[in-house]
Amino acid sequence: MAVVEAKDVWKIFEPGHVEAVRGATFNIAPGEIVAIMGPSGSGKTTLLMMLGAMLSPTRGEIRIASQSLGDLQEAGRVALRRRRIGFVFQSFNLFPSLTALENVAVPLRLLGARDHRRRAAEELERVGLAGRLDFLPAKLSGGQQQRVAIARALAHGPAVILADEPTGALDSTNGLAVIRLLSERASEKGAAVIVVTHDERLSAVAHRVLRLEDGCIAAL
Ligand code: ADP
Ligand code: MG
Repeated sequence: MAVVEAKDVWKIFEPGHVEAVRGATFNIAPGEIVAIMGPSGSGKTTLLMMLGAMLSPTRGEIRIASQSLGDLQEAGRVALRRRRIGFVFQSFNLFPSLTALENVAVPLRLLGARDHRRRAAEELERVGLAGRLDFLPAKLSGGQQQRVAIARALAHGPAVILADEPTGALDSTNGLAVIRLLSERASEKGAAVIVVTHDERLSAVAHRVLRLEDGCIAAL
């Protein structure tokens, strides 16, 4: 059973009628790691945002864990994002005034988990940051910040992890560590990972590459 289903998905931005994504169709299974690659402007981020229910397709259908996103109102999309999806960004996007522990606890708190601090601490231990629980993001290296972001994305056990160029802001050593961690932790938890990347090392750990060219999937 697929956890992500995209059927003839289009995104056309107005004004200008920019066809950012043109008829994308694919399924992704639980535990699968899929790299989305393609030149700048080919529609990678737009596609990822639609899969994350952050942006509505102009046409076509997306299902996450069998739920059709088009059937949901905004409140339903927010609930689905909180429960089913974890996001990792190039620029980490940690809350600057919250500690590492508090950052990881946020999605757990939003879901009403009573043991959010303990679970957040466990996630941070898993990514090798047991000694940094009370650090603010500004006191952590880029690689450490991205590990916090990975812990935060995985903490609530989402079915789908969406990552947009997660190694883009890191040097090659830290980038490799982040790639290893993301793939290991996701496979332990059985989450599907969809990662936009230019990084050949990241696409090498992927089970499959979706190549986008001018909004079209060129090859499976
Ligand atoms: P990529 O992530 O592959 O670099 P994007 O998905 O960001 O590509 O963009 C694909 C195309 O859609 C580009 O031509 C971009 O200019 C356009 N685009 C992206 N977002 C918007 C928007 N909010 N409004 C209008 N055009 C957009
Ligand atoms: Mg992009």
